[in-house]
Amino acid sequence: MRINADTGRCIGAGQCVLTEPDVFDQDDDGLVVLLAEDVDGERVEQVRTAVQICPSAALSLAADG
Ligand code: SF4
Repeated sequence: MRINADTGRCIGAGQCVLTEPDVFDQDDDGLVVLLAEDVDGERVEQVRTAVQICPSAALSLAADG
């Protein structure tokens, strides 16, 4: 699954980082940085949770290809 992060929407709330720190990080301005753009296995559910709890709807998850 491919992760998309819209830094134009991100408000730096950090909920994604708290949910899955292996995939999400924040830059010096607090905006989301992807540490991985593709996830599979157990991480998909963690990333799905992050997508749902992001307060600015900056994250999305799409099938590969
Ligand atoms: S949870 Fe959403 S608003 Fe917060 S840092 Fe992550 S992408 Fe940005």
